[in-house]
Amino acid sequence: MMAWAPYEVKQGLKWIYGCLPVPMRYGRSFLYKCRLAEEREHWTAAALAAYQNEQLRFLIDHAYRHVPYYRTLFDRQGIEPASIRNVEDLHRIPPLTKEDLRSHFSDLIALNIQKKDRILLATSGTSGRPLRFYSERRHEAYVDGDAYRWRHFRWGGCTPYDIRATLSAYRIPVKRNGERRLTTYDPIKRLLILSAYDLSRTAIHSYARALEKHQPSFLHGYPSALEALTGFLQAEGIPSPTPVRALFTQSEVLYPWQRTLIENYFGCKIYDWYGMEERVIAAAECEQHSGLHVFSDYCIVETLKDDSPVIGVEGEIVSTRLDNFAMPLIRYRTGDMGVLSTTPCACGRNLPLLRLNGGRDRNFLVGRNGELISITVVDIPHATAHVEQFQFMQQTQGKALLRIVKKNGFSDHDVEQIQQELREKFAGLVDVTVEYTETIERTGRGKLPLLIQRLRLDHLPHGPEEPGR
Ligand SMILES: [Zn+2]
Repeated sequence: MMAWAPYEVKQGLKWIYGCLPVPMRYGRSFLYKCRLAEEREHWTAAALAAYQNEQLRFLIDHAYRHVPYYRTLFDRQGIEPASIRNVEDLHRIPPLTKEDLRSHFSDLIALNIQKKDRILLATSGTSGRPLRFYSERRHEAYVDGDAYRWRHFRWGGCTPYDIRATLSAYRIPVKRNGERRLTTYDPIKRLLILSAYDLSRTAIHSYARALEKHQPSFLHGYPSALEALTGFLQAEGIPSPTPVRALFTQSEVLYPWQRTLIENYFGCKIYDWYGMEERVIAAAECEQHSGLHVFSDYCIVETLKDDSPVIGVEGEIVSTRLDNFAMPLIRYRTGDMGVLSTTPCACGRNLPLLRLNGGRDRNFLVGRNGELISITVVDIPHATAHVEQFQFMQQTQGKALLRIVKKNGFSDHDVEQIQQELREKFAGLVDVTVEYTETIERTGRGKLPLLIQRLRLDHLPHGPEEPGR
């Protein structure tokens, strides 16, 4: 009935359901999974490794038996599935590229998972080339059935009893007269939904009113959307409409200036999350904020330099999720760069730490000689106060287009300052042309990438350079 019932009827039913206690709203199995996830994060490193290896053996056996791509690959490489017993053995399996996922899509589907139990998803394709993949339906449950996500919320002090607000890619049903609805409240999840698709002045005013009305203690969303909301409220002299205890960011790179702006405005800490639309990896900041804890009970993360695993130095992040049997992606090359650390976190959890350095997929400009320059070094907000939004686009090596939405008061002096800043940061390796525009479009998922990279970076030739910093 819920599928066709009008918005008002659904909302009414949700309010009734939302009055139920947490175990009934979320289901006992969800709470059980959360409890197990909490226990595992306090296991010793040896216990975690044993758990990981056991999950891995199960996955490899499944892949060989039921996934045609892996049967062919293992046979061709002479890999006996039973010989892959731990993370070290895993290195013998060649990594899977995004291109492999594209070209072997059908062969990567497990034959023993029924159609009704899997769900087809796609990435938003900021590089212009979306990817399709299958996830298991049980992982995409209606109520936030994700114990790993809730592990992160718990680290920030948030429980299913708390009211949260999100500023991300939710599509909110339109009104019956066809008018847009900017916010909606889900009483089951205790979640106020604000749409990252609309960050106009009118929309942000309505978000501020909704935040004031529902008083969420926790906010999560895309960094760029939270930055826009914060920047606007601050510029209008509006204090935080609700006392926020922690913020959670996801889906985009969190740039240092965004963290400073948002944390200062709300007077609390951001807990950043690193995942991928392909759902192969999960890592998150704990209350120590000393890096991202890899959820090693969810995935096996390696960093590769010249195709060999490295620790303590930067390499490409390659991840194997342990529980997606519908389409196992083993040693999936994320295209993101990171450093795995052996230093334990002061929080005492044995989930290893990963540092990203902002080097996420396609988040590099390519210099005239093929140097990779992390876009994180760009600090335009500090060069001038007169830029509303900005975005880089690169189609040619050594050249980039910078699109700017001006604020009132923008002058030639601002352009000079920006150009000066970029010359220093890019060490003369990228020539930047500036173009002015009225708006910068968000992607289909409401994201606002800082860089639209049209060059092929499928195989990163060098480690990223960070000139000027
Ligand atoms: Zn920690």
